[in-house]
Amino acid sequence: MKTILVLVTVVISLCAVAEDKPAADLIVTNAKLYTVDKSHSRAEAVAVIGTRIVAVGTSAEIDAWRGPNTRVIDARGRLVLPGFNDAHVHFISGGLQLDSVQLNDAESPEEFARRIGNFAKRTPKGEWITGGDWDEEKWSPPHLPAKELIDSVTPDTPVFVNRYDGHESLANSAALKLAGVTAKTPDPPGGTIVRDAQGNPTGVLKDAAQGYVWKVAPPLSHERRLRAAQRALAYAARLGVTSLQDMGPDPEDVAVYSELAERGELTSRIYSVPPIASVEDQVKVGIRHAWGSDYLRLGALKAFADGSLGSTTAYFFEPYTDAPNTRGLLNSEMIPLSKMRDRMMKGDAAGLQLCVHAIGDAAISQILDLYAELEKAHGAADRRWRIEHSQHVALKDFDRYAQLHVIASVQPYHAIDDGRWAKRRIGPERIRTTYAFRTFLDKGVRLALGTDWTVAPLNPMLTLYAAVTRATLDGKNPNGWVPEQKLKLAEAIEAYTMGSAFAEFQESQKGSLTPGKLADIVIVSDDLFAIDPKHIRDVQVDTTIVGGRVVWNRE
Ligand SMILES: [Zn+2]
Repeated sequence: MKTILVLVTVVISLCAVAEDKPAADLIVTNAKLYTVDKSHSRAEAVAVIGTRIVAVGTSAEIDAWRGPNTRVIDARGRLVLPGFNDAHVHFISGGLQLDSVQLNDAESPEEFARRIGNFAKRTPKGEWITGGDWDEEKWSPPHLPAKELIDSVTPDTPVFVNRYDGHESLANSAALKLAGVTAKTPDPPGGTIVRDAQGNPTGVLKDAAQGYVWKVAPPLSHERRLRAAQRALAYAARLGVTSLQDMGPDPEDVAVYSELAERGELTSRIYSVPPIASVEDQVKVGIRHAWGSDYLRLGALKAFADGSLGSTTAYFFEPYTDAPNTRGLLNSEMIPLSKMRDRMMKGDAAGLQLCVHAIGDAAISQILDLYAELEKAHGAADRRWRIEHSQHVALKDFDRYAQLHVIASVQPYHAIDDGRWAKRRIGPERIRTTYAFRTFLDKGVRLALGTDWTVAPLNPMLTLYAAVTRATLDGKNPNGWVPEQKLKLAEAIEAYTMGSAFAEFQESQKGSLTPGKLADIVIVSDDLFAIDPKHIRDVQVDTTIVGGRVVWNRE
């Protein structure tokens, strides 16, 4: 209804300038449109008035919308898609990481130490070195770093650099000292202090144990957050990410988004999903799911059930194959379980959407149990519960996703990344239902695609490449790792646009190139459907349009 009203208003206001049709503000023509709209999946051109699409059709049909002031973009035969909607990012930390030490591609402990040492020379006194996104799986042989590796190059600079999955971090001695972490410090619930043979902390803190150091790290200033958001927005525009769903922001992050929205500077639409610990706040205000504007929404809660596979903290029914003494860790939010249940009940009763991180099969099962309890308590409704990551699913649980209408919010890049070593970690049987995108679709489960940036790169082409090829980063599975779980390109694009839009209750507003929807459009350098899938990762976004406004143009 709202859409129709908008169109009527536009039509009336523009009747004066055109004889039979209002003129478009923007036309993208001579293109290969893949619309993700089942009623007309292929077209050549699209017309936009204001912030919305008014027509999709052949170049000749759309030409009729041209007026004296219409901006016309000739796509020169290139592929045009709806903008990408990344269903799971950590946006401010992403922006901060763009300015921080880069450790992800440091391929040896020596290189890791060298980069931190160089960065320390440029770090003003009193400031910390954080971020980093290190990946010890790229070292041969892989092993966790320890504080001794970096203490000599950072004697006075506190360092707390995270593994790229965010589930463990390395502190140097300066940071451990400020945090007061010693051999006597106990492991907190849901966390582990990694210790040497003598029981002394090595500097690596897993999951909740990271809290010891975060507590003493200096808070981010407003300016720093604002700069990080601006950096991240520019980066997202370049990559064609026109919507993103920000998982677990601080309240100060939301304030920054709100400021940028007011200034008209948001160039991606943000669904902001604060931690479930803040449930009382959102309930008190009376916000419900997907509340807000086209550019900034609230109304969901992000919770954690467990850790990650890489940190051996994802929670499984059976022990890890390569670490038989553990089956992972439940997150502190799950200890005791009644804490999670209470918060979920409160949020659900108030109409808030629930997005729960769960990676191990046992953690996923427990969250499905809780969702079933909620449904029993509050009745069936269109809630769009999500399980973030949904990585390792017990066979019996796929049907429960479908029955409870739970959305699998997945990040295909993790499959080609973790696929390098996941078999060693959990064995040949469990990897069959790991990153099981095909099984989800076959079972009628909706997918939403994302990256978990900075855990994986924000670039949508890498996600499409991963979903379609499942070729692991080490080049060892060129025909796909667990290839029966590959997605078709059209399925991956749909999950990355309509699927993600559905996961934030916005499928009537965006996710396809359909008249009446928001004009979020990307022009892509190569025809993804025509090229060899192994080249998808090299494709670039040439032009990004958000709400009819060009926010990125390569030329
Ligand atoms: Zn995440």
